[in-house]
Amino acid sequence: MTHTHHYGAVAADPAALPRRDLGLAMRRGLRGRCPHCGEGKLFRAFLKVADRCDACGTEYHHHRADDLPAYITISIVGHVVVGGMLYAETYGDWPVLWHVILWPLLVIALSFAIIQPIKGAIVGLQWANRMHGFSATPDGDDLPILQPHRDHAR
Ligand SMILES: [Zn+2]
Repeated sequence: MTHTHHYGAVAADPAALPRRDLGLAMRRGLRGRCPHCGEGKLFRAFLKVADRCDACGTEYHHHRADDLPAYITISIVGHVVVGGMLYAETYGDWPVLWHVILWPLLVIALSFAIIQPIKGAIVGLQWANRMHGFSATPDGDDLPILQPHRDHAR
């Protein structure tokens, strides 16, 4: 059984390919490491995913993390900050200036702290599930692609 890739190549049924460890791939991505080997760097800049692993050669450019890391970051930071604001308003007696300074700083600090690990975990999830182009990555455990012409049609 075959299915058509988003870029036009016909690959073997992903269900017939060896299973990739989802939890392991996401934990490696969370640490900014290659989901496949755990050694190479996943990012070439803060939020720029490298084209391929410098240790094992696994290609990452297939990822489609898109807006999901930002969406998850906003959800987490929003819950923490809005919860904190309500708590401080209810039980604290802070001068308004404290609120004006603290909450925006907390939003910025938390967002920068968690968005890269979240993006790494999402790329790991997409790799492990062979989403997008990841079923065709030549990482040694894949069956050959039957018609590997890549016309990049989407
Ligand atoms: Zn690697």
